[in-house]
Amino acid sequence: MSTSRRTLLTAATGAAVTVPLFGAPAHAAGFDPRPGSDGVGDPLFPTLGNGGYQVDHYDLTFDFTPATYDFTASVTLHARATHDLSAFNLDTDGHTIDSVTVEGRQARTALTLGQSGQELTVTPQAPLHKGAPFTTTVRYHGNGKALRAGLTGWRFGTDGGFASAVQSSRADTFLPCNDTPSDKATWAFHITAPKGYVAAANGELTGKDRSGDGSTVWHFALRERMPTELLGIAVVKGTYLYGSSHTGLPLRHIVPQGREDFYAPIVARTPDHLAWLEAKFGPYPFSVYGVHIYDGYTDALENTTLTLMGTNWFKDDAAGHPTYENTMVHELTHQWFGDSVTPHDWQQAWLNEGPAVYYAALYSEERGWSRMADKMQATYEKLDAIRASDGPPGLPKALGGTNIYDGGALVLYALRLHVGQKKFDRVMGLWPRRFKDRTVTSEDFIRHAVEVTGERGVDRFLRDWLFGVRNPPLTEVAD
Ligand SMILES: [Zn+2]
Repeated sequence: MSTSRRTLLTAATGAAVTVPLFGAPAHAAGFDPRPGSDGVGDPLFPTLGNGGYQVDHYDLTFDFTPATYDFTASVTLHARATHDLSAFNLDTDGHTIDSVTVEGRQARTALTLGQSGQELTVTPQAPLHKGAPFTTTVRYHGNGKALRAGLTGWRFGTDGGFASAVQSSRADTFLPCNDTPSDKATWAFHITAPKGYVAAANGELTGKDRSGDGSTVWHFALRERMPTELLGIAVVKGTYLYGSSHTGLPLRHIVPQGREDFYAPIVARTPDHLAWLEAKFGPYPFSVYGVHIYDGYTDALENTTLTLMGTNWFKDDAAGHPTYENTMVHELTHQWFGDSVTPHDWQQAWLNEGPAVYYAALYSEERGWSRMADKMQATYEKLDAIRASDGPPGLPKALGGTNIYDGGALVLYALRLHVGQKKFDRVMGLWPRRFKDRTVTSEDFIRHAVEVTGERGVDRFLRDWLFGVRNPPLTEVAD
């Protein structure tokens, strides 16, 4: 358009008015700014995430003081409006907001209580146009141990440090963000750790700057897209252990200081785990991997490129087998199933946990530590009751249950029996290649499985297993 004036029809009155539109884009004729929603309608967490924009990139600066747990931070979101936007929300919880700018200009803000945290409503000085990229910067500070409206994602070790474990909805306890798995972005991190501590984050270490006071700013970049739920940052008394996979993938692990001799042979199992999984799913989908072992955590979590595991895992079982390797394989499987290919919302979580449980059980079976058929039969026998109380694997009422984990694995096991090993391996092997970096639903998986197997009946079969109120029969078809 060459003209800088255009006639608009106002929605309210229907009257034609002429307004100056200096430099406005061509689609401004329909410019109709309205606030973005305070949630994206996740079936399990309706106010998780926010509508009206998508984030392309997060740039997080985080300056943490161990032992006092104080931090000062700022985050810049590079985003795009998905409709004309008069205001938008960020998920946040427990921070003191110091300033918010949009496109470098001070924005108006309001903080309200949300379903599982707080909502920060940002009103820019000028509304944003649909499709237009914009940046917003939030400066904030707080304390890791401060009270929050919801649960916290902070995990504290005996070293005075912390590690983040934010799945499913707690990234907002570290930064104001769009806290939904449906919004994936690239990331940059600048984390300050004092002398004696190391910093960690998802992605590759790109540089370190030492300050006069002995502290160091650690810079990391994650070039693949990651949802907020897989945020993995830490400041700990740890030691980096380096290695590489059989294909040359750089590995960096973080283990507790003084315990290097104990943990080095454990993390050295990672190349074998990678080779075992890459033979099934193709190349590892990120540019670095490692395991962070920390005494501030007692679970295991597949943070992108940097699995977090508690120190409590690492002892042999009663039979003398290092079955903690099953958990290492479980979290590494997630790098394909959950991290690279991400559920669009939390009701699709079996697409993460089903494969992770299945392939950890297969690994255990191949090592001679347990039998897949026994585990699946035991799950089969209890899953009907769990379907009734917690929902079927594809329609859970909440996260964390057997329906999603062992139930999800049983769906895959049943599919293997139904279509045979060869077709099953193709379904699972092609899935992370086909949907790399994307978000997916059960419907995508059903369509994919029908296409890859060439069997239309797989549609009905998977629907019965995923959404049915009772288990279908578990039967094997000749391969
Ligand atoms: Zn898992």
